[in-house]
Amino acid sequence: MKHIDAVRLFFDRAADQMELSENIRTLMLTAKRELQVQVAIERDNGQIATYIGYRVQHDNARGPMKGGLRFHPQVDLDEVRSLASLMTWKTAVVNIPYGGAKGGITVDTTKISRRELELITRKFIDQIHDAIGPDIDIPAPDMGTNAEVMAWIRNQYEKYHGFKPACVTGKPVELHGSPGREEATGRGVGILALKLLGRLGHKPQGTRVAIQGFGNVGSHAAMFLNSADCSVVAVSDVSGAYYRPEGLDVAHLYRYACEHNRSLAGYTEAEHISNDELLALDVEMLIPAALGGVITDENAAQIKAPVIIEAANGPIWPGADQILHERGVTVLPDILANAGGVTASYFEWAQNRQHYQWGLDRVRQELDRVLSEAFQQVWELSVERGVSLRTAAYILGIGRVGRATILGGIT
Ligand code: NAD
Repeated sequence: MKHIDAVRLFFDRAADQMELSENIRTLMLTAKRELQVQVAIERDNGQIATYIGYRVQHDNARGPMKGGLRFHPQVDLDEVRSLASLMTWKTAVVNIPYGGAKGGITVDTTKISRRELELITRKFIDQIHDAIGPDIDIPAPDMGTNAEVMAWIRNQYEKYHGFKPACVTGKPVELHGSPGREEATGRGVGILALKLLGRLGHKPQGTRVAIQGFGNVGSHAAMFLNSADCSVVAVSDVSGAYYRPEGLDVAHLYRYACEHNRSLAGYTEAEHISNDELLALDVEMLIPAALGGVITDENAAQIKAPVIIEAANGPIWPGADQILHERGVTVLPDILANAGGVTASYFEWAQNRQHYQWGLDRVRQELDRVLSEAFQQVWELSVERGVSLRTAAYILGIGRVGRATILGGIT
């Protein structure tokens, strides 16, 4: 199955509830614009390397389009399309004034130098700078990109358009970034996970958590949940998973990853298991925070966690989602669970436009407020309609985008 078909299936479950006509579904699902560009650089060894870059601008009915930039070997148009569409529903669920977009380059960042990474980033912006901007489409970090990459994007964009710090978010704090942006997605995952536990009548104490992915999102979610008294028993990255039934020393793991080029390879203070084994651990909460499509029809039956928080985008295929739903597993969907990142990006963009920087406390407070409100609305809708949290989140998001589209006028 293609990623975009998976999003379409989730969309349709909500659209059926809303009794949306086929032509409205087509209108809402069709991207406004799709760019595919050549990104050619001279490598350190003097050879020419050509990469493919994508930017899909899905919808702008509610405001400028917004979405991350992913550098990963599996990036293709199908994946970027689906992620752009998710961004449209996500910004609507948390009710921030943006549409949805996503970009990516098919590249393995572990196999290129820092200089090559910078060249690729700048060349990509050369190709797409006319199609993005603070009022049009604002990139942000995603897998394989970070604050440093965002700083290069801003610098390259400004060569064409002058001083425009709001052209990209997730920048270093020293370069018009926002305090709290880097931690925001993982922190948001943690905030929402605790809200869900509370609604389900569970306490953080005694909640064992397994997290797939220990990058930006996974590591900050682990630290937040650890400080809230949950027991993080397993985390993983591309090198495999690290499991300690009595609870991992998350701060130590984080320091280890920082000192080893963001990798957990060689970590010896826990049992080394596979990523597949991590997904099937006997825990109270599972948090996929790496790639999409990791929980499939094949492995859904092995999942033991009664609660799954989708920190990654699209980690559960629709067939698996159905199996889990029938087994009574509660899934907090990506379009709500990881919305803390785009919410803090919105704060950064707003600060840039006012040329005024907020303090960390204010960012955290506002993040908590926006996510709590969205959680409350999704939870209530789910109870009222008797649907899953995912379908409720889609109904909320699609409803907001639909109303903005109609009010703005289609022709
Ligand atoms: P990252 O690049 O910082 O970290 C990714 C992590 O996943 C790393 O630990 C990496 O080793 C691991 N990983 C990669 N391939 C893997 C594999 N095949 N098996 C197991 N682990 C693997 O990325 P991130 O920013 O933390 O993003 C993680 C997920 O969260 C993505 O799905 C992304 O779309 C989503 N997300 C990120 C943000 C954000 O603000 N960064 C916002 C919303 C959603």
